[in-house]
Amino acid sequence: MQGFCDSCEESVDHLFDLTRLPEFREVVRRQNYRKVCQLCYDDLYDDMKQQQENQDRRTEVRHSIKLKIGISGVDREGQKFSEQTFTHDVSLSGAKISITHQIEQGSVLTLSVPDTKFEAAVIIELVWQDGKSNSAGLKIVEASDAWAKMISQAIETTNTKKS
Ligand SMILES: [Zn+2]
Repeated sequence: MQGFCDSCEESVDHLFDLTRLPEFREVVRRQNYRKVCQLCYDDLYDDMKQQQENQDRRTEVRHSIKLKIGISGVDREGQKFSEQTFTHDVSLSGAKISITHQIEQGSVLTLSVPDTKFEAAVIIELVWQDGKSNSAGLKIVEASDAWAKMISQAIETTNTKKS
């Protein structure tokens, strides 16, 4: 496709149609660039990747908040279990919890918050064993607004108490 680049306004032989690329939806909406040259495409692509990484990092910041939770599912031996425990720390996308059951890394369990109606599938990313106690790092399988909201509120409450 030949024409003018929406970003640098140079005339080029080949243009990239950003409207066809879902990952550029934000760029199209914000900057109104529709067709761009190779150089501008590369720059925009780098910017977009950078922004995504920043966002990921933000959701993964950990706050040491002890939240009462329930965790249930199937343990390493294939036995069903359900346990009331608490978090060591939380992030907008997951948590590190204390757990007495032997669980498998990669298993999908159900996390609930007894004081609320919150319940979500979580994936166990890491298991630590320190003596008798185990901890597990988990991630909410599907990005959950309810979880993010609850965590944000918990963080706010903790900050208010501190100051
Ligand atoms: Zn250009």
